[in-house]
Amino acid sequence: MASIDLRSDTVTQPTDAMRRAMAAAVLGDDVFGEDPTVGRLEDLAAELTGKQAALFLPSGTMANLVSLLTHCGRGDEIILGDQAHIFYYEQGGSAQVGGIHPRTVPNQPNGTLDLEAVRHAIRPDDAHFPRTRLIALENTHNRCSGSPLPPAYLEQAAALAADYGLKIHVDGARIFNAAEALGVPVERLAATADSLSFCLSKGLSAPVGSLVCGDRDFITRARRQRKVLGGGMRQAGVLAAAGIVALETMTARLAEDHANARHLAQGLSDLPGIQLDPDGVQTNIVYINFAAAAPPAVEIVDRLNLEGVRVLATGPAQIRAVTHYGISGNDIARAVAAFQVVMKASGR
Ligand SMILES: *Cc1c(COP(=O)(O)O)cnc(C)c1O
Repeated sequence: MASIDLRSDTVTQPTDAMRRAMAAAVLGDDVFGEDPTVGRLEDLAAELTGKQAALFLPSGTMANLVSLLTHCGRGDEIILGDQAHIFYYEQGGSAQVGGIHPRTVPNQPNGTLDLEAVRHAIRPDDAHFPRTRLIALENTHNRCSGSPLPPAYLEQAAALAADYGLKIHVDGARIFNAAEALGVPVERLAATADSLSFCLSKGLSAPVGSLVCGDRDFITRARRQRKVLGGGMRQAGVLAAAGIVALETMTARLAEDHANARHLAQGLSDLPGIQLDPDGVQTNIVYINFAAAAPPAVEIVDRLNLEGVRVLATGPAQIRAVTHYGISGNDIARAVAAFQVVMKASGR
């Protein structure tokens, strides 16, 4: 039997409709602005997010880096969460490539930043300090239980940013999951962002690609940054075609992934040695913490693998499971059973 792969929603394969659209895509050289399929995807992304324009990029990491390089110059500072993907998992690219200084404030368990802490982190105009330019938020928040940031919080953050003349970037890799969980259109979550990035290649199942959305001037400048990073792609319509199908057909089913994640969390929370609050699971990401006496997370991962379930160790006593297209309710039941076997065998 094939293993149940809950390592990430990035393992999703393109749907048959995506493969057909890729095969049939009308193409051109997108660096010359001549790929009509890329153009259609960018227009669709702009429309869905309520922004003037959008830019297609190879990855979420590049989408974030391009956004930061477009907002900030060398010696500028960005305020972001200490658990932010941009801070944690992107090699410090904005510092490495752009000379942009990161200033972290602690993420709260629900993925938000305490806005008073953000206010205190904003630098006064003084030659000793970098210049604060940007606040970066993450929605849903990957390392904070996949929590969605609601519109009311985003509006408060935007009001704070406006007080100090700062911009807001939202890393919305899973913004469609946030919209689904909150029951609001993506446009509402994008409204308070000067730039928003999102991924096609996660829960939306496209093989490759991310978008950055913003106003026309921002996207024109972002296009230059994409080019210098080597992200100008030629007949990229072959990928954009899958992205269009992703946006048209794959967002409405995300509720299924959220229900599966909730069921997984409920099933696991009953097992000995596992600490997990199912109420904290609002989207498709489940973090599982182990009691002090349990074997190391990497060992549990190996044992689960032998039982046909793949997950990621995200700490010495923590693993992550992510639900996605292709994972059924039956798979969730099998995954819970595998955990049961492994936790029992580990004697706790
Ligand atoms: C996956 C992810 C990214 C980066 O996307 P890649 O396409 O893997 O580079 C950025 N931010 C968040 C929150 C993510 O989960």
